[in-house]
Amino acid sequence: MLDFLIKGARVIDGNLTDSYIGDIGIEKDRIITKDLDNSTSKEIIDGNNKIICPGFIDVHSHDDFRVVNDKRILHNLCQGITTMIVGNCGFGVSPIISAKEQMSSLYQVSKLANEWKNFGEYFDMLDNYPTSINVGALIGHHTIRRDALSIIDKNYPSEEELNKMVNLVEEGMESGCLGFSTGLVYEPGRNSKTEEIIELTKAIKKYNGIYVSHMRNEAEGLFHSIRETANIGLSADVKVEISHLKCVGKSNWGNSVKALSMIDEYSKKGLDIHADQYPYTARSTMLKALLINGTFNNDPNSPMGKSDSNEVLLCSVPGDKSLEGKTLEDIQHVYDLPTEETVKKLISEVSDKILVAAFGMEENDVRNIMQHPKVMIGTDGIDVGSKPHPRAWGTYPRLLDEYVNNQKILSFEKAINKMTKLPAQKFNIKQRGEIKHNYFADLVIFDPENIKDNSTFTNPKKTPDGIEYIFVNGKKSMMNNNETKVFSGRTIKNT
Ligand SMILES: [Zn+2]
Repeated sequence: MLDFLIKGARVIDGNLTDSYIGDIGIEKDRIITKDLDNSTSKEIIDGNNKIICPGFIDVHSHDDFRVVNDKRILHNLCQGITTMIVGNCGFGVSPIISAKEQMSSLYQVSKLANEWKNFGEYFDMLDNYPTSINVGALIGHHTIRRDALSIIDKNYPSEEELNKMVNLVEEGMESGCLGFSTGLVYEPGRNSKTEEIIELTKAIKKYNGIYVSHMRNEAEGLFHSIRETANIGLSADVKVEISHLKCVGKSNWGNSVKALSMIDEYSKKGLDIHADQYPYTARSTMLKALLINGTFNNDPNSPMGKSDSNEVLLCSVPGDKSLEGKTLEDIQHVYDLPTEETVKKLISEVSDKILVAAFGMEENDVRNIMQHPKVMIGTDGIDVGSKPHPRAWGTYPRLLDEYVNNQKILSFEKAINKMTKLPAQKFNIKQRGEIKHNYFADLVIFDPENIKDNSTFTNPKKTPDGIEYIFVNGKKSMMNNNETKVFSGRTIKNT
């Protein structure tokens, strides 16, 4: 007997084939598509005028530590995310001491209920205390560099230090990590040279791991960065994912066309290369990272691009919540200082852990990148402070509402492929990402006419409209924005 039978829904199975009207069954943790005419079910769901599709896979999460203390992980679950991959931008969870030091630039990590020593223990903990969604992980470059190097920001590790980092990468892959990530604008990874990254990336090859990179430069040096990333993949002979592909800073607008053609060229050469994207024209990062990368000084070249003070919103300000939601320009008026001096004063006198959202991309580039067949979706969400970038709560419904329904630049089939099968294939997530007989029953049922993200820059912590059911491993995890708190998520390991 089935647990659920969804009748007469428009089925979008994650492939790029046309949708069809059909029935989908769920039995235990699996999808059933065969012999449904003769099946009985404990519960029948009317799928009329609804789309049923695989659960969304967020390839770019930063909830590594958050998920340990908050197993609901509502900002992800509510948008239909059933699997998230943590460990992005070089921020990993192991080894724990350096992970805590590194992650503390993103959010508070002091109040950890449980601790782990390495990836094996991290996965065990998530298996023993399951969360609402599935979790896979990448090994973070900053974290292992912090652990292995005597002076973490030097350019060249000693042979012994490099070996130690290689061992940590191998240990992570042995424990089930999906790959290795870098964040080459952040400390301490930004000090490393390409050769170091190649040596570390070689260690993931025998595990069919993926190299994932927040590249060294997303502004004027974008093309050079794509070349560096591709060369790392070619030299180590591994597949490559460019994180949150974008063109930041006005002088860099329009460069998406060439960036995407470079991806096509490297693909033709045989490199397995993709990118991910969040569907917004504002980025979000640490204010300190923008400062050290020259966003606010007079140098026209900044690896993180330029943003004017009225384009920078304070998302999270530990120690002074009253500043959250204000722009840098607002604060500049109070301090009566130039922009860069205002930023320095904020960091030294208020907090060095301020997170901001910074506009600086062009909608046309966002659309170009989104339509490319090798681009998938990831949130890059950091749900801290009172005004987090809305991508933490709204990425997936926004893609469906704004870019499928309103702008009509993607079909539902194409959009859903970018959220499901494409990431599952790329990150080696088996038996998920498609509606297929006997695949894991991670499923989303939504109303295509009423799907809508409600998360905005002024009021970000809002659940979306239009998502009626979310199943994780066959368990009904959310129904019309109500959590069932069954916590049926599992760890996703590279086996
Ligand atoms: Zn990043």
